[in-house]
Amino acid sequence: VNNCSNRIKEKALELGFMACGIAQARKLTEEEGHLQHYIEKQFFGEMGFMKNHFQKRLDPSLLFPGAKSVIVVLANYYPGNNISETNGLLVSKYALGADYHFVVKKLLAELFEFIQKEISPANGRIFTDSAPVLEKAWAVQAGLGWIGKNGLLINPNSGSYHFIGEIITDLELGYDEPFVSEYCGNCTKCLTECPTNALVTPRVLNAQKCISYLTVEYKEIIPAELRPALKNRVFGCDICQDVCPWNKKAKKTNIPEFEPIKDIVQADLKWWQQLDEQHFDELFQHSAFKRVGYTKIKSNIDGLNIE
Ligand code: SF4
Ligand code: SF4
Repeated sequence: VNNCSNRIKEKALELGFMACGIAQARKLTEEEGHLQHYIEKQFFGEMGFMKNHFQKRLDPSLLFPGAKSVIVVLANYYPGNNISETNGLLVSKYALGADYHFVVKKLLAELFEFIQKEISPANGRIFTDSAPVLEKAWAVQAGLGWIGKNGLLINPNSGSYHFIGEIITDLELGYDEPFVSEYCGNCTKCLTECPTNALVTPRVLNAQKCISYLTVEYKEIIPAELRPALKNRVFGCDICQDVCPWNKKAKKTNIPEFEPIKDIVQADLKWWQQLDEQHFDELFQHSAFKRVGYTKIKSNIDGLNIE
């Protein structure tokens, strides 16, 4: 089984993933209290999926019956230094290239096809931010890093600019040791630099105050008192990652689809203000912008508070 695991990991890297680890599927009972607390505090904003499927979130065999293994991959999206600041406007690094839902899913499907053809005719299911999987907890179980005080998975070799994807399968494999240490140490940069104090305590995010949530998931008009902190952010916020010392290790992505879309990089305020819906849909058909939609992006632009 260890040999099979090694072949899967080699293939994952060959496909362009930055890292791959494998954990034994089991109910994550140790996460139950944390999840319950988060839901009770209603820190999830409007993200109803957080409270739905509570048991499914903890138990992979409820997502895929007969689950034995969770294969976890990291896909690097780091576009290179400071590219997210374009013409004075800010777009989160993860949204500069193609929509990760498509890209990571496609690569995971290729990985699973390899497993079925070359290793064993296993059954399984692919996930990337698409179902109630506790992705970061599984990445820790698969030995890929620790959850930093900013609430994100930090990989000791590359930091946190990555997407996480999983294959839950009935194939028995050799497993990685969970990542038991954490290396934030005395650092508190992500907490102190967050402009809205959305990180209430280490690893506890109040999504209702988080710029990333407000500019992407939140459907209503952004509360006026939070507007000034948004400054020139059109989509998302990277501050609690940009200040993290571990992200000095980030290297540019080698996944071609994550190359920044030219129009986003070149856009200035006037361009955004003049963009109509049809043009928006055409330009961003493969981008996370399309998923968020024209109306929301337009309202972010209209509310910009540029100094
Ligand atoms: S994404 Fe921005 S607003 Fe949200 S917690 Fe991080 S620094 Fe704060
Ligand atoms: S900024 Fe500091 S405290 Fe926050 S996640 Fe990075 S190392 Fe940890």
